[in-house]
Amino acid sequence: AKSEGRNNYQFYSPELERASKDRTIIRNSLHNALDRGEMEVYYQLQADVNSGRYVGSEALLRWHHPTRGLISPTKFIAQLEETRLIIPISHWLLQQVVSAYLQWQADGLLDPAAHISINLSPRQLYDQHLVKSFEQVLNESGLPGEALVVEITESILLEESPSTLKLLSDLKDLGIQIALDDFGTGYSSLTYLKRYPIDYIKVDRSFMRDILFNQDDESIVRAVIALAHSLKLKVIAEGVDNHEKVVRLQELGCDYFQGYLLNKPMNMAQTANLLFKHKQQ
Ligand code: C2E
Ligand code: CA
Ligand code: CA
Ligand code: CA
Repeated sequence: AKSEGRNNYQFYSPELERASKDRTIIRNSLHNALDRGEMEVYYQLQADVNSGRYVGSEALLRWHHPTRGLISPTKFIAQLEETRLIIPISHWLLQQVVSAYLQWQADGLLDPAAHISINLSPRQLYDQHLVKSFEQVLNESGLPGEALVVEITESILLEESPSTLKLLSDLKDLGIQIALDDFGTGYSSLTYLKRYPIDYIKVDRSFMRDILFNQDDESIVRAVIALAHSLKLKVIAEGVDNHEKVVRLQELGCDYFQGYLLNKPMNMAQTANLLFKHKQQ
C-alpha cells in the first residue's frame, strides 16, 4: 500500500514515456508471435494443503520476445484483447494444455483426478465460438471436461449479462469446472457466488503476502474459507511462498494452494521433470 498512487498527479515522467514506448514495440511484434513459435505455455502446480499431493496446475502464457526475452502476460494481455488476438492464442493454448495433460497422464505423472486450469479473459466472453471450440478440443482429444477448470475474474461477472450465465452453464454442461480468480480484489459481490455455477474460489495472493503477521489478512482469508465452504465451494490460496503459510492454511481449513513454494511457473518439460521427482519421493 506504501507505493500506491505514487504517480497519480504526474503528467509526464520518463517511466510513463518508457511504458508507452513499450506498448508500441509490443503491439508491433505481437501479431506474428504465435506463427513464429514465440508463445509457450508455462505451468504452476497446485497441491492439497493437508497431504501435499499435487491436485492440478495452472497454465500461464509466456512470450519469448526475440530481443526482450521472456515476457509475462501482464505486459501484453491487454493488447491481445484489444486486437482480438486473444482468441486464436487462447485456442492454441487450450490445445497445448490438453496435449500436456494427456502426456502426463499417459506417463503416470498425474493423479487421475488432477485438473488443469486456464485463464479466460473478459474479451473471450464475446467470442461466439468459445464453447464450440472447447467442445471440439475435448471431442478430438478424448479428454473429459472434468479435467479442465476455467479461471474467471470478477470483472467478467460484473457485466452481469444473461449471456455470461449461459456461457458458464454451457461450459459446466461439458463437465468443465469454474474458478473465481483473484477473489477479494475486484468489485466483489457475494451475489456472484449465488448466481453463477462456481466450483472454486481463488484467494488473491495479496492476502497471502503478509498473512503470517497481519491479523486483517488472516481474518479475511478465514472468512472467505468459511463462506466458500458453507456454499460447498473449494478454496485455492495463491501466492504461497513458504512452508509456514501452508501450516497457517491448514489451521484455517483451506483446501488447495499454489505458489513459489511449489514452483515458479515452468515449461512443459520442466514440469514433467518436477512431477517425476515428486513421484519418486
Ligand atoms: P493470475 O491468473 O492471478 O496468475 C497468477 C500469477 O501469479 C502468475 O503471474 C504467477 O506467475 C504469479 N505467481 C504465482 N505464484 C506466485 C508467488 O508465490 N509469488 C508471486 N509474487 N507471484 C506468484 P503471470 O504468469 O505473470 O500471469 C499474470 C496474469 O496474467 C495472470 O494472473 C492472469 O490474469 C494473466 N494470464 C496468464 N496467462 C494467461 C492466459 O493464458 N490467458 C489469459 N486471459 N490471461 C492470462
Ligand atoms: Ca489465474
Ligand atoms: Ca489469480
Ligand atoms: Ca492476478
